Amino acid sequence: MSIAKTIPQQLQTNIDNIINDIIPNPWLTKIERVSYTNKIRDLLQQRDAVLIAHYYVNDELQALADKTGGYVSDSLDMANFGVQHDAKILVICGVRFMGETAKILSPEKTVIMPTLNAECSLDLGCPIDEFSRFCNEYPDREVVVYANTSVEVKAIADWIVTSSNAIQIIENIMAQGKKIIWGPDRHLGRYIKNKTGADMILWQGHCVVHDEFKSHELEQLMKKYPDAEVLAHPESPEAIISRADFVGSTKQIINVGKSSPANTLIIATDQGLFYKMSQAVPEKLLIPAPTGGKSATCKSCAHCPWMAMNTLSNLYETLRDMTNIIEVNERTRQQALLPLNRMINFSYEQGISIAGDA
Ligand code: SF4
Repeated sequence: MSIAKTIPQQLQTNIDNIINDIIPNPWLTKIERVSYTNKIRDLLQQRDAVLIAHYYVNDELQALADKTGGYVSDSLDMANFGVQHDAKILVICGVRFMGETAKILSPEKTVIMPTLNAECSLDLGCPIDEFSRFCNEYPDREVVVYANTSVEVKAIADWIVTSSNAIQIIENIMAQGKKIIWGPDRHLGRYIKNKTGADMILWQGHCVVHDEFKSHELEQLMKKYPDAEVLAHPESPEAIISRADFVGSTKQIINVGKSSPANTLIIATDQGLFYKMSQAVPEKLLIPAPTGGKSATCKSCAHCPWMAMNTLSNLYETLRDMTNIIEVNERTRQQALLPLNRMINFSYEQGISIAGDA
C-alpha cells in the first residue's frame, strides 16, 4: 500500500497546500527582510491595521508585531486584544481557527491572514459532520470543546475552553451533576479527566507537534540536566505529562519559567515559544523537549508546519492586496459566540485568565 493511500484526503490536500505555500518563498536575504519589514510597517499604518501574532509563528513575525504596536499571545488572548484595539483591520499571524475566533469576537472588523491554508491538526481532525454525529449519540451530555476548533464546531458546543481555564470550567459543569463530551484533543481531555475525575467521553484528536515528544529521550535529557525543570503543555502525551514539573498553557509556561528557581528549563511545546521565553528569562538555559531519537517515527522538530506557513512575504502580499479575508457565516458566528461568551464571562467572574491554546 502506498503511503499516499493511508493519508486522509483532507490532510493530503493540506500537505499539498503547505508545499505550494512554502516553495514559492525561498529564503530571504537580509536586505529583503528589511525591505519587507519596512513595507509591512508602512502598510499597517496606511490601512489602519494591527499585527497580532501567535507564540508559535516565526520569530521575525513575533518581533514585527511587538515593534509595530501589535501583540503576541495565544488564540483567545489574540482575539481579545483585537476586540480592544482601535484598528479597523486585524492581521492574524497564526492558523485559520485563530482568524475565525478573532472574527467571532470582532464582526465589524476586517480580519486577514498571511495564508488561509494554515490549519491545525486538531481542527482538521474534528470535522463538523462527524463531531455532530458523535455528540448526537450522547444527547444528555454537555459538549465542551477546546479553542482549537472550527467556528462550526464551536457553534454546536455548550462551552469553549482554553488550556488555562479548562479544569475550572469542567469542575463547574461537574458541580451541576452533568456529564461531558470533550473534543478534540485526547491528551488534554485525558489530563483534565484525570485531574477532575469528571465523566468525560473523549474525541480522539491530537496535535501533530505535541504528539511527537518522546518520553525515553526526555528521561535521558533529564539525567543529563538533573537540576532542570520540565515544563509541558497539556497537549503532550501522558508519558511526558507524568514526567513534567509543571503542566500548563503557553502563557503559564512563560510565567512559571520566570518564577522557577531552576536555571535550566526543558520545554515541551512548540519551539516558537522560545522567542518570548528567552525574552522573559534571558539568563536561563532553555532546552526543547526531544521529538527525535530512537523511538521517533520520523525526524521532527517541535515546530508546527502550519504556523511556519506565515512568512514576511505572504504577510506583505496579504496586506498589499487585502486578500485572505476571513469570512464567517453570521448565523454560525452568533451561535459560536454564545459558548465563547459563556467561557469569557465565567473566567472573568472567577478571576481566571482566558489565555491558553496550542
Ligand atoms: S501546534 Fe498543534 S495545536 Fe497548535 S496549531 Fe499546530 S497543529 Fe494545531
